[in-house]
Amino acid sequence: MQLDAKIPSGPLEGKWDKHRFELKLVNPANKRKFEIIVVGTGLAGASASASLAELGYRVKTFCIQDSPRRAHSISAQGGINAAKNYPNDGDSIWRLFYDTIKGGDFRAREANVYRLAQTSNLIIDHCVAQGIPFAREYGGLLANRSFGGAQVSRTFYARGQTGQQLLLGAYSSLIRQVAQGQVQMFPRRELLDLALVDGQVRGLVVRNLLTGELERHAAHAVVLATGGYGRVFFLSTYGMASNVTAAYRAYKKGAGFANPCFTQIHPTCIPMHGDYQSKLTLMSESLRNDGRVWVPLKPGDQRRPQDIPEEERDYYLERIYPSFGNLAPRDISSRAAKSQCDQGKGVGPTGLAVYLDLADAIRRLGKAEIEARYGNLFQMYEKIVGEDPYQTPMMIYPASHYTMGGLWVDYNLMSTLPGLFVLGEANFSDHGANRLGASALMQGLADGYFIIPNAISGYLAGTRFPEVNESHPAFQEAEAAVAAKVERLLKIRGRRTVTSFHRDLGNIMWEYCGMSRTDEGLAKARTLVADLRGEFWENVTVPGSQEDFNQSLENAGRVADFLELADVMLLDALARRESCGCHFNEAFQTEEHEALRDDVNMCHVAVWEYAGEGREAVFHKEPLLFEFVKLATRSYK
Ligand SMILES: Cc1cc2nc3c(=O)[nH]c(=O)nc-3n(C[C@H](O)[C@H](O)[C@H](O)COP(=O)(O)OP(=O)(O)OC[C@H]3O[C@@H](n4cnc5c(N)ncnc54)[C@H](O)[C@@H]3O)c2cc1C
Repeated sequence: MQLDAKIPSGPLEGKWDKHRFELKLVNPANKRKFEIIVVGTGLAGASASASLAELGYRVKTFCIQDSPRRAHSISAQGGINAAKNYPNDGDSIWRLFYDTIKGGDFRAREANVYRLAQTSNLIIDHCVAQGIPFAREYGGLLANRSFGGAQVSRTFYARGQTGQQLLLGAYSSLIRQVAQGQVQMFPRRELLDLALVDGQVRGLVVRNLLTGELERHAAHAVVLATGGYGRVFFLSTYGMASNVTAAYRAYKKGAGFANPCFTQIHPTCIPMHGDYQSKLTLMSESLRNDGRVWVPLKPGDQRRPQDIPEEERDYYLERIYPSFGNLAPRDISSRAAKSQCDQGKGVGPTGLAVYLDLADAIRRLGKAEIEARYGNLFQMYEKIVGEDPYQTPMMIYPASHYTMGGLWVDYNLMSTLPGLFVLGEANFSDHGANRLGASALMQGLADGYFIIPNAISGYLAGTRFPEVNESHPAFQEAEAAVAAKVERLLKIRGRRTVTSFHRDLGNIMWEYCGMSRTDEGLAKARTLVADLRGEFWENVTVPGSQEDFNQSLENAGRVADFLELADVMLLDALARRESCGCHFNEAFQTEEHEALRDDVNMCHVAVWEYAGEGREAVFHKEPLLFEFVKLATRSYK
């Protein structure tokens, strides 16, 4: 596997401009000769489809949901970063770049992250032009708030519904192109395999989720924007349809999978409350702007929070990380919450929760102001927990929320498979070992609106495309493989539900590959996962048939892929002989129990290549070169 990141030479500030100038262009009349498939209609996919169609390419867009508007991006709450520096508090493109590199614990590519910071301001202008109702200051300027890992306020927001508003913008642009005939929309389709011709990705096979029919679609290039794989942990803040299937099947066809063990555990989720729960709910990080996180000083303190006096509370983030306080980054805040609970200071019925308290802010700013900033989040909390967070502090605990790992891509967002581009959370590109809050929306929209429309022209204009249509043997083979897998799943007729396998897998991964990892635990998890995978293929029950709407069948295929991906995650965690960002191996920690990096031996992207059924994935690495930033111990103290 060749890993050429294709990072342009020259000064950091000029790399993207220079690269765009050097990329070959497709002239306007020729654009309509090219067909591009986009899979996914979250922020990355919807913005890419709309922008590519606007340029004149013929686009086919696919998604699992009944409407593009229901992609998981709709759930994003807190905001989107940009280096506008409206509050005049010292922000700049360089600071956003540096914060992101440092936030990712120096495990991301400089050139990609700098481009992201440069592009951030264009995104805000574009979204304002679309009419996104961002919050505004009294004078009319867009308002900003702070997110973790930054000491400036650079997060643009629309109350606690930023993802929904941004997605409505991208969706409107997409539907405009559907109406103009430039985009053909295929909802309720699931990508189950890719078709490769002479090593080039030339199309895909999808299952029509309503009829069960397998369909083939050919194109000149395929863009995956299929989101993250955090549901490998079963309980997570993701939408229920989020999965790894598209990325994993591309991996099986030869796309490298980068840093799969880099998974983000978000510190502020509503704690789990029972065994039969299928999902967790996020309380946005934005609440940490005004909320203070604390636990009782004494382990085992059962008093109600109102009855615990100030001097008997430990505002542990403010104590341990005085410079960033409650806005310490997610990996650090999550581990700190776990550590407090491990010491017996956790609260609530399970002892696996800490308080997020807005009482001071309500006293200082008044209830009306807090309601204006976070009203919908408070409402959500009250509905789920049955307590009024205006009166009683919220209880929160870390949960799986985002994946920094994903398919490897070069500077043009192309995977190791020619013709397969990967955008948004599905790629690994910009966040290193830990993503900062409000940076996923920024990356998804940067990729979709600004990077791919430029980068793809270089590929299309510089590549020879033999005539290929859906009757090519590559499509027949891909379809036959998909049909065989579906049939195999339906034939087992075992005794355990798909969900029970998924829950067990989640428990294993959470226990051994979650916030804290050890070599013994990871090795044990590999055996447990292998056993579970073996049992799955003998004892899973998938009711119904292939010929109709069958969500058990859909789910079975996704869980089968999670069961395989889990092993690649565990291998990756074992191979990374350091702690960095979200990856905390207990053997590598400082005296203060912080992550201990090894910049001499581990400053690389780990990329895994599929080696065939039952064989261990093959390791490759892309060295990370830091020309413009000095590697430093990450400190938020
Ligand atoms: C509760 C919550 C709140 C968040 N808040 C914020 C925030 O405030 N700020 C921020 O920056 N980030 C936030 N994030 C993260 C952010 O929302 C996501 O990282 C981002 O929206 C992902 O966008 P995407 O376009 O890459 O993928 P997604 O939005 O996940 O879209 C994936 C698309 O791919 C399709 N798809 C998937 N698999 C297949 C397949 N096999 N075949 C066909 N189609 C497929 C789906 O149908 C969907 O259309 C939040 C995340 C969560 C869970």
